[in-house]
Amino acid sequence: MAQRRSSSALYGVAACAGLAGIQIAPTLGRAFCASGPALRASARRTGESASLQASPASQSSGLPGSSGVAAAAGVFGLACVAAAGARRRLATDSRAARVVCNAKVPRLSDQKAWLDGIDIFIFDCDGVIWRGDSVIDGVPAVLDKLRAAGKRCFFVTNNSTKSRAGYKGKFDSLGLDVPAEEIFSSSFSAAAYLEQTKFKETGKKVYIIGEKGISEELDLIGVPWFGAEQDKDKVVNLGSGGKVEHDPDVGAVVVGFDRNVNYYKIQYAQLCINENPGCKFIATNLDKVTHLTDAQEWAGNGSMVGAIKGCTGQEPIVVGKPSPLMIEYLEEKYKIPDRKRICMVGDRLDTDILFGRDNGLQTCLTLSGVTKEDKLLSDDNKIAPDSYVSSIVDFFP
Ligand SMILES: [Mg+2]
Repeated sequence: MAQRRSSSALYGVAACAGLAGIQIAPTLGRAFCASGPALRASARRTGESASLQASPASQSSGLPGSSGVAAAAGVFGLACVAAAGARRRLATDSRAARVVCNAKVPRLSDQKAWLDGIDIFIFDCDGVIWRGDSVIDGVPAVLDKLRAAGKRCFFVTNNSTKSRAGYKGKFDSLGLDVPAEEIFSSSFSAAAYLEQTKFKETGKKVYIIGEKGISEELDLIGVPWFGAEQDKDKVVNLGSGGKVEHDPDVGAVVVGFDRNVNYYKIQYAQLCINENPGCKFIATNLDKVTHLTDAQEWAGNGSMVGAIKGCTGQEPIVVGKPSPLMIEYLEEKYKIPDRKRICMVGDRLDTDILFGRDNGLQTCLTLSGVTKEDKLLSDDNKIAPDSYVSSIVDFFP
């Protein structure tokens, strides 16, 4: 525990790669490291390129305390000066990883040998650690055993409805002792991206489609925002002459999962992106479906992002998975000579497993979430993990 806490952690988010041909480019990266040269990263997205300059790294202990976050976001540039080289390697690996892979996937076996080959686990949360508000049976004991075996664990979620503080509370409520610095949510990723791109210095505001996770993270870095839950009951006037007035000082629209999305919010975002010069369109993630109840799958943030893509013709800057900088950070921080000693564990093929494969990691799919076994093993599936389990409890049979 002490070791985990002292190792202060990381974060890195970054840019992004493209599912379905989307070329995004984000650039996030943040490290909780004590020092480090400014990092320059450039990101390219369709039709535009951007250079991001991170400020010198400073110390942070992890959670949201405003100074900690500011420092963290400032440091955001991430630890790896090796990033450029790694990115070139990623580009190559990424192409290779996407080519094929519908060969039959083996169930995990010989767990001891498998565990011996892994130093770091990156866990997706929904469908892996918990479902909805219930921890998956046996997960706390598995995490304890992994740590007892000297493995490091990080938790990454594309769900933007909570801030890191909110997720820390969720882990606590589920009886999981997880330090905040090991948690990476896409709400934080969005804030980190804005910090990294020095958005605050533009004097512009952010319009949010999303929930309080995003607004809480923006508050921590002092970026003005509106929308989100404040607009959940807004309606539009479609009578003669009806129009929505929008703020020309909105410089970015952040779209995250929003259970109260409505036509007003879509129209407002459309006006900002289409009419405010240079307004960024940032998506926390493109997940198609999500788990809100254990009874069925629910439309994910891909539906909110799709609505805005549809009325703007713009591709978003995606800040959640899949993003390579976190991996680059881990490599640098822990001097990992071989990415295959990092294992991505997730329940989605098109985000978690693709993320792992594109970054040269080991991958393990768990059937405790979105993906069912018949889909995984279907000839139509082109994204194959290295192995799969019913739940991570299978790590210790
Ligand atoms: Mg999941």
